[in-house]
Amino acid sequence: MLVRFWGTRGSLAKAGPSTLRYGGNTSCVEVRSASGTLVVIDCGTGAHGLGQALVADPSQPLRGHLLISHTHWDHIQGIPFFAPLVVPGHKWDIYAPRGLSQSLRDTLAGQMQYTYSPVTIEALGATIAYHDLVEGLFVVGDITVRSRYLNHPALTLGYRLETDGVSIVYACDHEPFSRQPSTGQVEIGEQDRRHADFLRGADLVIHDAQYTATEYANKIGWGHSTAEYAVEVCTAVGVKQLALTHHDPLRDDASLDQIVSAMRAKLKSANQPLHVFSAAEGQTIELESRTNERATDVAQEFSAVTPMTPALSECVIFLGATDAQTAKVIKGAASAEHVRLTSSTRTQNALQTIETDPPSLVIIDEQSGGDDAVAVCQRVNQLGTHGTSPAPIVVVADRENPASDLAIFATDWLLRPFSPQYVRTRIRAWILRTTCRWMRAQMPKNEETRLAALKKLEILDTATEERFDRITRIASESFDVPIALVSLVDHDRQWFKSCIGLSVKETPRDMALCAHAILEDQLLIVPDTFLDPRFADNPLVTGKPHVRFYAGCPIKLPDGNLIGTLCLIDSRPRQLHGRKRNLLRDLGKLVEIELSRRLQPI
Ligand SMILES: [Zn+2]
Ligand SMILES: [Zn+2]
Repeated sequence: MLVRFWGTRGSLAKAGPSTLRYGGNTSCVEVRSASGTLVVIDCGTGAHGLGQALVADPSQPLRGHLLISHTHWDHIQGIPFFAPLVVPGHKWDIYAPRGLSQSLRDTLAGQMQYTYSPVTIEALGATIAYHDLVEGLFVVGDITVRSRYLNHPALTLGYRLETDGVSIVYACDHEPFSRQPSTGQVEIGEQDRRHADFLRGADLVIHDAQYTATEYANKIGWGHSTAEYAVEVCTAVGVKQLALTHHDPLRDDASLDQIVSAMRAKLKSANQPLHVFSAAEGQTIELESRTNERATDVAQEFSAVTPMTPALSECVIFLGATDAQTAKVIKGAASAEHVRLTSSTRTQNALQTIETDPPSLVIIDEQSGGDDAVAVCQRVNQLGTHGTSPAPIVVVADRENPASDLAIFATDWLLRPFSPQYVRTRIRAWILRTTCRWMRAQMPKNEETRLAALKKLEILDTATEERFDRITRIASESFDVPIALVSLVDHDRQWFKSCIGLSVKETPRDMALCAHAILEDQLLIVPDTFLDPRFADNPLVTGKPHVRFYAGCPIKLPDGNLIGTLCLIDSRPRQLHGRKRNLLRDLGKLVEIELSRRLQPI
């Protein structure tokens, strides 16, 4: 894997003699896998130079993937000036955290409006697909990408990229949840522990380090880390190399040198092997592949793109007793996110409210709550609004894990002081995390003709046939999966012409993963349903047959209609790479041939 820094500055571009060596452009990193998948992370002003280099390359047109951490200016300002997006012929996928009410495309269009930008979003000539992300896992080319929410005053995702046995993490912009300048001083909280897990064992971590521990006292709540924190967390989880980035606009080259020397001295005296450096514009890092067999490029088939329409409008926040100022900020944030809010200051009323209008999220104050708050938390835990899991409880406090009766109920903490923007971001993340992660498939655009084509086969509800069972047997054996199906997607059910490993003959269409697979003429691979917002809470995932891995090859009739799938199911998370994908396609072809025989009487 090759990593090249095109922009390392935070907040604002800062060109000039004092930033010559580390660079003045804002965030932009180029990543290439050994087989050539191109990923660009963030599109700050550094993207201009990268864009020029890319279009100068004769091997056009380009196929690229742009991962945006968040839509603050310093991370997207380069978009209108990124040549491969402007010039027609190239093909890009753009990924960024989804908002609650506005799509990614609309958000980007905002900064490119006529008043602010000479290039509007309509003027971008490349073929662009916009993907709104939540936490989870998806695949771009031969790279597996994990996304995780960071702690910043805008909804921000960190990305962990893995391929060829190599892993890199981009965590920018991020402030430790505990708001301590370094982890050594406090017991690390649950959210910080998860952040550490996200970085664990990476070959390279590119981490926010805008401040030093000394400066941090005046920057609490600004959403950035200290160099000390980045070094400590990376040391703790066995990271090999750490690139400090998002350099403050006030930081000159000499002071960056000083920070690195100080960090290296600290690591040396602790006898830690972590290699730390300040990311510099133009710097290239090559990470050696660890696997011999390289995954082939599957660029056309990213598999776990996230949904657009979870039922957010049905979310309700319950706000317990709190001081007037806190209540005002939280109410304002909920209303800005178009989320309904209920509240009550008296125990009896509070219990009644959460029973008649079960909340998706509870925010409760450690100071004003008292015994009433404990009763409310107990009731919320008993209730459970999303199937078996109760609503998360967020405790407002001055610091994490205070000696409070509420501590045992806290799913997360909201630490004072906080800005309205910060509360809004956290509410968004909590709600996106807890929204029921199960989506019914959309109806195909050609549903009527598709159903007509399926009916014409006169195959539904017919007896099993050896010629189909032979194919599912081969599939089950050669992919080593317990379940293989020829599934046909009927009006309101999926019906199995052949099934190995399942005793039922059909399931409702609402639950069918195959109903998703027939939406596009390409393989649908879900490596881990638990991590996929479309399927994590699907009854076929949470209950029998406990679908954890799914791979479906759409079955296409000669007239182009996609009527069902040949699919593989396992109860363990899996991957399906290169040649195996081709094999599944080949077997799918055999099903197509058998089916089309029904159309031509012999
Ligand atoms: Zn930033
Ligand atoms: Zn930011």
